[in-house]
Amino acid sequence: MGLSSFFKKRKKEDKKKEEVDCHININMDGCDACGKCSIACPNNVLIIPETVVTVRDSQVCRSCRLCMAVCPNNCITIN
Ligand code: SF4
Ligand code: SF4
Repeated sequence: MGLSSFFKKRKKEDKKKEEVDCHININMDGCDACGKCSIACPNNVLIIPETVVTVRDSQVCRSCRLCMAVCPNNCITIN
């Protein structure tokens, strides 16, 4: 495999990863860091490190949508 095709492949893989990463959409402006989504998530996908929720690891999300259901501000969308 040539160097350029190696980087092309890497780029594609990175894009794929981005697409997987963005299946959890969070409206940060509406989040008040109440922590309900983080507590509800059975896979510890969401954490509240500071003042807004953060996706710790989207790869372990099972799209159960519990986080969506408990958010009082409707900040989360799972695609
Ligand atoms: S959809 Fe389910 S597994 Fe994914 S972040 Fe929300 S609660 Fe966690
Ligand atoms: S439940 Fe909603 S408001 Fe609360 S931390 Fe999660 S995203 Fe933010």
